[in-house]
Amino acid sequence: MNKILFKQLLAQTSDNPLALEISHSNGCYIYTTKGRRYLDFISGIAVSSLGHNHPKVIKALHDQIDKHLHVMVYGEFIQRPQIEFASLLLSQLPENLEQVYLVNSGTEANEGALKLAKKYTERTKFVAFKDSYHGDTQGSLSVTGRDVYRDPYLPLLPNVDFGYFNSDDSLDLIDRETAAVILEPIQGEGGIIPARKKWLETIRKKCNEVGALLIFDEIQSGFGRTGKLFAFEHYNVVPDILCMAKAMGGGMPIGGFVSSQKIFQTFKYDPPLNHVTTFGGHPVSCAAAHANLKELLSGDYFLRASKIEEIVKQRLQGKGIKEVRGMGAMLGLELESKEITEYVVNHCFDQGILLGWTLHSNTLVRLAPPLIITDEELVFVTNTILEGLKSYN
Ligand code: PMP
Repeated sequence: MNKILFKQLLAQTSDNPLALEISHSNGCYIYTTKGRRYLDFISGIAVSSLGHNHPKVIKALHDQIDKHLHVMVYGEFIQRPQIEFASLLLSQLPENLEQVYLVNSGTEANEGALKLAKKYTERTKFVAFKDSYHGDTQGSLSVTGRDVYRDPYLPLLPNVDFGYFNSDDSLDLIDRETAAVILEPIQGEGGIIPARKKWLETIRKKCNEVGALLIFDEIQSGFGRTGKLFAFEHYNVVPDILCMAKAMGGGMPIGGFVSSQKIFQTFKYDPPLNHVTTFGGHPVSCAAAHANLKELLSGDYFLRASKIEEIVKQRLQGKGIKEVRGMGAMLGLELESKEITEYVVNHCFDQGILLGWTLHSNTLVRLAPPLIITDEELVFVTNTILEGLKSYN
């Protein structure tokens, strides 16, 4: 019954949604109304890094809900959860990343970043990369590097040049007309592809030379997923604008883009209020984001992410898998074909494990477990993957 209503009443994004009917979730598990439980090995796509319904996040939510919900559009009233969250977040970031603009989602963070770069540099050109994913609203889609998703919506923003990720040839695209270069330090939907350190350093240098801003989209890689708070810390390359969302709110919707006061100044005039949002920085989401970040910073979650990488790589590398790549708990298994990939993902699903694809690759199994996953659960999942591979052959 509910499945029929789901398909009838809710606009669908594909013909074959997983359509699990959810009863509740807790820790690493999602429970269905049929009484099955699934080990969420993709964290709701890189969201539930502390697991589902972390008690500290839930408590912060209850506390805030009893005080107030929405009171005013972003930027007008002083709201304690926003200040507390911003203060903790910014204390963890390099000097030039000193203010945050709070929004509701990843794509909205990127939209804001792109507009900010245009306003600050008074330029209109962007450089982005093939196989990138930055979101599905029109600005973010304009810098997303996959034609199959762009073509139905053309024309998009003019003046976007796409280079090859990790290729030095892309550097020639960055010139004095470039407002910003936007990239994911680890491409997520493109197939979990980490940037080369040297390449990222050279991009930073080139941006400085021509006065273009560098935007890092860490919407998927942020908040501890790769073993650092943000992936750029692995590279020692600091962006001018840092975009975040997904795991930021511990399961609540929130996003943000961070930059310097100098760059953000340009949002205040010509005209005033030229970039506003009603719900951005919602106090309830901010309370959750604050509790989430406090917990992330106080536990050994980052170390755990690195340990997850070590265990998964050690158990799966060279065992009929072309490549195991990624950083921390942002990992991908490159398999031989679309058919094997589909088979392995379905096999795991039958055994109660949620694994995923990425949007741009059909030969990659995405692994993005909550950082609270235990060694036993890692053994169970890796064994089930190997079993799936074996039974296909
Ligand atoms: N950027 C990246 C790197 C992402 O992975 C995503 C979501 N998959 C987005 C942007 C868009 O985020 P949202 O779905 O919250 O708009």
